[in-house]
Parts: sequence; C-alpha cells; structure tokens
Amino acid sequence: MKEILVSQPEYVSNFSCIGPACEDHCCKQWDITLDKNTYKKYLKSEIPGVKNIAVENIALTKKSHSNWAMIKLNEKGNCSYLEPDNLCQIHRTMGAEALSKTCSTYPRYNVFYKKEVIESLTLSCPEAARKVLFNETALNINNQTVTQVAFNDTADLNVEGKIVNLFSANLLMAPQNRIEHNLYALVCFLLYTEKLTGSLDSKFAKMESVYTTLVQQMDSGEIVQAMGKVSAEQKLELALLGGIQQAIGYGLNARGKVTLLRYGKELNQYFDVNFTEQEISEHLLRLKQGWDQIALPWLGQRPYILRNYFQYRLYHDRFAIDQSIPVLKQLYVLVVDYFYIKSVLSAHALAHGSLTEQAIIDVMYSYHSYRQHNKIATKSFIAEIDRVKRNDDLSVLQLLV
Ligand code: SF4
Repeated sequence: MKEILVSQPEYVSNFSCIGPACEDHCCKQWDITLDKNTYKKYLKSEIPGVKNIAVENIALTKKSHSNWAMIKLNEKGNCSYLEPDNLCQIHRTMGAEALSKTCSTYPRYNVFYKKEVIESLTLSCPEAARKVLFNETALNINNQTVTQVAFNDTADLNVEGKIVNLFSANLLMAPQNRIEHNLYALVCFLLYTEKLTGSLDSKFAKMESVYTTLVQQMDSGEIVQAMGKVSAEQKLELALLGGIQQAIGYGLNARGKVTLLRYGKELNQYFDVNFTEQEISEHLLRLKQGWDQIALPWLGQRPYILRNYFQYRLYHDRFAIDQSIPVLKQLYVLVVDYFYIKSVLSAHALAHGSLTEQAIIDVMYSYHSYRQHNKIATKSFIAEIDRVKRNDDLSVLQLLV
C-alpha cells in the first residue's frame, strides 16, 4: 500500500451547498455534462419528471464515456431539472448519489500529485467565497495520510516550488497596515530566489536568510520607505481596468456576469469616454482615496478577509509549485486581480459610504466566475496583461502604490 498526503483547509471541511438560499445558484449558464451511466439512469428512471426531461432535454454528445450527454438549458439559461423553488429535481427525487459528477463535485476542486492531494473550492461559488473569506481560521490546513493501492498517476510535487510557496505565504502573513507592503516584500523575495543556483539545501539557506531580512525590513519601515520611491503609472492602471471591464462585458454569458456588471457599472462612472485626461487622472486618485478612507478602515476591523484571500490564492493556485507559468508572472496576475477587485470595491464604497460583507461576497464570487472559468480564460487574461505592461514584470510594483 502507498501513503498519500491529503491537505484539506478548514474552508473545505466547513463547506456545504446552501441550495435555495444561494445568491446565484450554479444550475445555470454552463455545460452540465453527464457520463454514460448517469444518462442511462435518468433515461430509465421510473420517476416521470426525470425520465421526460431526459428524453426531451438531454442532448447526446458521445465525446467519451464520461462526457456522454449534456443537459439543455431552458430559456432562462437554467438546468432543465431546476425546480421553481431553486431545488434540483434529481437531488429531491433520487438523492445526492444520483447527481452527475459535474453537479456533485462543484465547487470542490482537487489537484492530484503522485503522493499528495490538494483539496480546495473554487471562489466562483458565493458560499465558498463566504467560507474562505469570513472565518479567521479558514486557511488552517488539516494534513492527513491515507493509504491506497498505488500512487496517483500524476507528476510528483515540485519540492523547491513548495518551499518558495511556504516562504511567500509567510511573507504575506507578517502583520502590516497594508497588504501592499507584504506584496512588495514578496516581489523582492522572488527576484532574489529567481537567481539562486546550486543544491536545494544551499538555496533553502539563502531563502531563509533573505526571508528573515525582509520581515525585519517590514517591521522597521524600510519597505514602506522603499515603496515611497515608486510612483504609480496611471496609464498602466487605466489600461488594465479598461481591458478587464471590456473582457467581462464581451465575455461569455457566464454565471455571475450580471452581478459583476452591476458592480462594474459603479466603477465605469469614473472612466466615461468623454472625460479629459486630467479628469481621468483625478478619478483614479479619487478611487484610491475611497480605498484608503472608507474600504481600508472597514477591512482593518476584519483583517482576516484580505489575509485569507491571498493565502487562499497561494494555496489554490499552487503558487510557485505550478511551473506552467513563471512565478513572477503568477504574482503579476495575482496583483492585477487584487487591483481590479480593490478598484471595484472602492467605487462601491464611495457610492454607498461603506463596504458590506455582501458586497465582498458579490465581487469575489462574480469576479472569480470570470477568472477561474477555465484555462483558456486564464491564458487570454495573461496575454492581455502582457500586451498592456509591455513585458516589464517590475511594473507590478507600480500597482502597489
Ligand atoms: S453556487 Fe455554491 S452554494 Fe450556490 S447552489 Fe451552487 S454549490 Fe450551492
């Protein structure tokens, strides 16, 4: 028997679907695929409603055994099995075990390595966002060893990446007035580690030393001083905000889009095409004031929200462990996501005089419905960032001031 390490954060063990109470249920606007056995089970069901829908509203795809059929969505974009009270007919009449893999899995998201399994949830589910962001201990991870006949048929986890990931997570945990100070320290750490050569042991010793120095520099205020020398680049800010707003507007009719466009509308008021350059510049500064004067004091009373968000992203995205994207680019993407979320929340705070937990949930789940949609969406997001920043990875620092 082989031993497998399973990592499960508290936000995963605490999660359960809230069904009809959900702000934006997931039984709509996506491809609900069925495997061959599930399709046959519905088609042969003795429950008339289940069988009739299977006959009339399930299209055969026969792409593979696991992708055998697809449920047609009705005129509202909802799954044909969704009942008027937002309950699932399959779940109600046949029980949870009769659900398709797509339905029974979402929003759970597991990554398999040869000897490890990383369990997580996608933030595109509002209840998952609530469980990740609004619990001080949500990111406490329970590591458990399970035994199975063979190792998973996947690559081994990259140990050096895991070490970089752990140092990065600790740099983001150091108490600071602004998470931007931690992110600045993280950029310095990654620039340093990127150049390291030699054995893993010698690299580890050097990483530990630079990590200790950076924590001291955050405590002494040296990082704040260094950040004072970086100036914001409004053209970059504007291009990123405009690019994301446009991509969301023209993007797929995905779940969460209505919510995200509603919040995006509050942001758009600052960037009307008829505004002069001077006015746009003043509005970008106004958004920063909204963050500093309204959003930040509110978040300061709930320091776990931003801390959990960044810890979640490092864990869920397998920051530095996933080597398909260079680590500095992974950080750039994370900072751009944060910059956009921050701008939307600032506009909302300025419009309503405060933030609310519901606004945080709405923005987080709807934005991540767009961002965590699929690998193609991530690729085009990175391509857009590259186009705007003209391949200067260090310009990430300008988004922190
Ligand atoms: S989005 Fe999440 S909470 Fe809402 S119905 Fe789907 S799984 Fe349940």
